[in-house]
Amino acid sequence: MTAKNVPYKEGFGPFAPEVYRVPSPYPFRWPSGADNAAEEALAALTDTVLTQIGAHNVAAIVAEPIQGEGGFIVPPAGYLKAVQEFATAHGIVFVADEIQTGLGRTGAMFACEHEDVVPDLITTAKALAGGMPLAAVTGRAELMDAVAPGGLGGTYAGNPVACAAALGALETIERDNLVERAQQIEARVIPRLEALLGHDSPVGDVRGRGAMLALEFVKPGTTDPAPEVAKSVAAYCHREGVLTLVCGTFGNVIRLLPPLVISMDLLDEAVSVLEAAISTIRASSEVA
Ligand SMILES: *Cc1c(COP(=O)(O)O)cnc(C)c1O
Repeated sequence: MTAKNVPYKEGFGPFAPEVYRVPSPYPFRWPSGADNAAEEALAALTDTVLTQIGAHNVAAIVAEPIQGEGGFIVPPAGYLKAVQEFATAHGIVFVADEIQTGLGRTGAMFACEHEDVVPDLITTAKALAGGMPLAAVTGRAELMDAVAPGGLGGTYAGNPVACAAALGALETIERDNLVERAQQIEARVIPRLEALLGHDSPVGDVRGRGAMLALEFVKPGTTDPAPEVAKSVAAYCHREGVLTLVCGTFGNVIRLLPPLVISMDLLDEAVSVLEAAISTIRASSEVA
């Protein structure tokens, strides 16, 4: 179902037919401006469902409450809620992919909570078992019980060691207040990232929630993507011992996913490395 061909789909077909995609509201790049993103994206979705497909033919609407690989895109307030209400009104199952956003990462147990949305199904993995391999689908009993026992089975399904790790991870998230920790990380890092914005800066946008934060790099004063800057910044950080990951459709976004248990001193040091990377690369491009 991923919308990204390389590396995820290239050469892997055939794929399940009738997966439709609609534009997701991307405030920084919405053609008619950020203020119109929610309304126009919703109109595109409802039009596709009602006109092209027919609502009764749609099994599910799947959304990431904050896009991960796509560039850490936070949808405008109210969008997710409107999508969920539209789905419910038409008997369509609303699925939130919380694999990257879930389990405290965004400063709530699930990112949907920020938007007051309760999905019918939630997918989780990544942080679920603290690094042990485990993925889960959680949902309303009516949906979960529709599958016959063993119908969603597999060699490793319900692996006892991975499940024990997940229980440990959940206990740790609660005991150590890691949801709150993610909020503290946001409060600590965002002002320093926002200070990097500016008309003559390659940092065009700063966004994210909790400990899921990102910088989008552009040609200064425009929204033209600058993937080469993102790549150089990531490489500089790597040389200095700070691991960042590039993402986004244009490969021009650097995502920050610090561990929720990171000490504030280490976090500050990492952000300092990031700042140094950006100022060094800016200085060298100004000379060039
Ligand atoms: C990593 C990731 C996936 C893939 O999860 P698997 O459990 O490895 O299939 C799906 N969605 C999002 C948002 C992810 O970040």
